Amino acid sequence: MIPQFPVLYPDELVYSGLARYYIRTGYLAYSFVAEELFTSKSVRSNPEFLNSYTQEVMEWIEKMTSMDELVLQHTMFPYYGRFLPKMRKIKAFEALKSMTGNYHNLLPMPQTKDGHTRKLKYCPLCAADDREKYGETYWHRNHQILGITVCPVHKCCLRIGGVEISGKSSPSLVTAEEVIPETVEVATNVDELEIQLANYMSQVFLYPVQMGEVNIGAILGDRIASGYAHARNGQRAIASFHQKFMEFAGRIQGNWFTELWQLQKLLTNERINFFEICLLAMYLEMSVEELCTAGIGLRVEKSKRRKTENPQKSGAKPQNWQQIDESTLPMVREVIRELQGDIDRKPKRVTVFAVEKRLALPSKRISLYLPKCLREIKLHEETQEQVWAKQVVWAVKRLVMQGQPVTMKRIRILTNLRQAYIDASIPYLTQYADAPTLRQIEEIIIRRET
Ligand SMILES: [Zn+2]
Repeated sequence: MIPQFPVLYPDELVYSGLARYYIRTGYLAYSFVAEELFTSKSVRSNPEFLNSYTQEVMEWIEKMTSMDELVLQHTMFPYYGRFLPKMRKIKAFEALKSMTGNYHNLLPMPQTKDGHTRKLKYCPLCAADDREKYGETYWHRNHQILGITVCPVHKCCLRIGGVEISGKSSPSLVTAEEVIPETVEVATNVDELEIQLANYMSQVFLYPVQMGEVNIGAILGDRIASGYAHARNGQRAIASFHQKFMEFAGRIQGNWFTELWQLQKLLTNERINFFEICLLAMYLEMSVEELCTAGIGLRVEKSKRRKTENPQKSGAKPQNWQQIDESTLPMVREVIRELQGDIDRKPKRVTVFAVEKRLALPSKRISLYLPKCLREIKLHEETQEQVWAKQVVWAVKRLVMQGQPVTMKRIRILTNLRQAYIDASIPYLTQYADAPTLRQIEEIIIRRET
């Protein structure tokens, strides 16, 4: 009699769920659980994908979700598969679902170089959140994106856990709970660009995968050509674009996408790499939606013209907005926290527009499609005068903390506000300032008036 299989958490790798199951069984040796889960008990369980499972595991999956959803929501398929040409993408998807193993040849898997093995990554703050919410933590998918170094939710550095993704270590199933310490130092000295890229990649990763044709090289190439008019003139123009792009991309830690030939291969689809595509698209200021639906819209337009009698059948897949709403909400909360500022960061006004901009979302995305995110923003909205008041209070506190004299001039410089705005904020100061801060502000105002 098998103990209960656990239900997978949001964005959890299947591997992680099976590892949690292993712990529940209380088996002393891995071989016992391997026999129960895998059709071949000597197989190395693949943290990123699926293995060939026994009937028991298949029944567990069936009870929980469909095979399609399992691949899309609990494996790294959206990372490796999203930008593949249609037939190759469908073949890889089917191979994964049938667990036949040849998906490795169909997906652009990274080569292991110089004995360097990839390991599962984690965010110490996500782990703490999970433990508080669920009583345990788990391996999250979006931390495993290749090239991501920062948690998109917490903006701290990801850490490397001990579990090898593809390596020669003996087969095992290791839970995140066993690997991630209860207390671990959180590194937040992160470049703004790395945060922006982590956000961008994570959103592309979570965006519903379109199974239609994608010619991503042509889409990026057109975008370069439209921004750099002379780029149509061929290779020399691409080379000059590449130089400008490098000034930007060179700031990304551990970025391997640096060579001109890599860019050329990307534009001809000889090279399909999620990280490189995202980095380039972000530089070209493409929104996440534009990138994820690019090319597909064109195809839909054409097919609509052909078969207008049945538009339902030929359109793009309907978006699962509810799911996008859920998965965007933690990022929206984080952006709100960021906009509200702290002693080092000046508070800014929380608006739908500001949040959309920071998350690189198309305008109106939140108000039209993401009701939970919208509600969260509305809860934190303030008038312009209130935000000015907050900024004045922030400036006074900061000056006091730094041991500097509190003067109107210094407040104006720190807040970058005109005197008229500071005056307009006065009625709202009491909402945000404690008694000593308030007294200090009053003194300055009185001093100015006398
Ligand atoms: Zn995190």
